[in-house]
Amino acid sequence: MAEEKLQRLEVVTPERKVYSEDVRFVVVPGSEGELGFLPDHAPLVSALKIGLVRVHKDGKVLKIAVSGGFVEVRNSRVTILANAAEREDQIDVARAEAAKQRAEQRLAAGGPDIDIARAEAALKRALNRLKAVS
Ligand code: ATP
Repeated sequence: MAEEKLQRLEVVTPERKVYSEDVRFVVVPGSEGELGFLPDHAPLVSALKIGLVRVHKDGKVLKIAVSGGFVEVRNSRVTILANAAEREDQIDVARAEAAKQRAEQRLAAGGPDIDIARAEAALKRALNRLKAVS
């Protein structure tokens, strides 16, 4: 069997390097919808929304939760600069459950002191982390 072509995937946040491996296929949550990249993809830059990166490597799929950012593709290299990112094995489920509850309570309580957009974004991040481990 011909050796499968690989590309480099780097996922970094302002705080740390989350992932750096050679992989076969990557799907990212682009701001306008999912984007899939095989090696030798045309150069591209896109904003990312809160969602899951799916990494296809060695016949398995790894999920990485990202909380928005950017992706750049160039020379068989996919670089994700994320506001925050966690591999599925790094996610603290209890923390995500607590964040979900807090956001839901804020949204349910309403009132003039509630920043709805902020609570909705926090809820999306928490639900995304829970989806990554489900
Ligand atoms: P919380 O309210 O629990 O802090 P958040 O969505 O406000 O959640 P972020 O501001 O997106 O958190 O992230 C802050 C830091 O905490 C980042 O480094 C992020 O990777 C990490 N983080 C947040 N939630 C989790 C989680 N459930 N498991 C692991 N790491 C997390």
